[in-house]
Amino acid sequence: MEVETTKAGFRARLDAERAAGRSVGLVPTMGALHDGHLSLLAAAGAECDVVALTIFVNPLQFAAGEDIDAYPRPIERDLELAEAAGTAVAFTPSTDEMYPVPTATTVHVDGLTGSMEGASRPTHFDGVTTVVAKLFNVAGPCRAFFGEKDFQQLAVVRRMVADLDLPVAIVGCPIVREPDGLARSSRNVYLSVEERAVAPALHRALEAGARLVEAGERDAREVAARIAGLVADAAPFQLDYAEVVDPTTLEALEELVPGTEVRLLVAARLGTPRLLDNLGVLVP
Ligand code: AMP
Repeated sequence: MEVETTKAGFRARLDAERAAGRSVGLVPTMGALHDGHLSLLAAAGAECDVVALTIFVNPLQFAAGEDIDAYPRPIERDLELAEAAGTAVAFTPSTDEMYPVPTATTVHVDGLTGSMEGASRPTHFDGVTTVVAKLFNVAGPCRAFFGEKDFQQLAVVRRMVADLDLPVAIVGCPIVREPDGLARSSRNVYLSVEERAVAPALHRALEAGARLVEAGERDAREVAARIAGLVADAAPFQLDYAEVVDPTTLEALEELVPGTEVRLLVAARLGTPRLLDNLGVLVP
């Protein structure tokens, strides 16, 4: 595995791969790799000739007070895991390399970014779309692999690529979970033993919501209220939101239409971290 720290080096390497006729699979991350990230590398390896991983903790997507300095950065271990997973190139730029001067340009996706994560973290998605657009421009034409774990982010990135005609095909990958149902996350390391024991309640609440839909409930607000109630009852969770939305537009639904796919999403604080989870369900 080659490690590139400059945009020019990363771009040149991927240009050379494409010139040799090889397809590129890009996996953007903030590092602290776990099985969720490794599943994206595996998907990229299955679909593309060359797997490129990026590790960059992007200051633009952290607000003041969100502790970016505390974000885990086990870079040596990440590089070992990435190499073992078949990564050909890892791009690990410094903040100065990505932002040599403060950016005057921001990529903003309207509409999809106002609710849920965007309501709780108003500057977050502009930070995400700005850095992802930069990474796409540096990497060049590729397939880019994102987890459904961050479902709103996936929808926002898809929309940005469509609106700006970026030469990137977005591939969404299923959520990787712990055996007890907790979605894998770099932030799970912040959970105390007691919080970790309660954490799977988030996934169980989504499953209860899905069962309600499958049993014939057609009022999306009832489903959202059930999920919210279950999470609120699971102390010490502090519910942020529970929503039932259209998976493409992310619009909150009222009536559930038979034959359509809907997405149940939830976010709640548990001690230090905010945990996110979501589940797709087909309305019978
Ligand atoms: P992050 O490093 O947290 O920014 O995540 C990088 C990528 O990994 C994003 O596309 C995430 O959605 C994805 N990801 C994170 N956790 C999981 C998971 N448990 N299952 C699948 N994908 C994940």
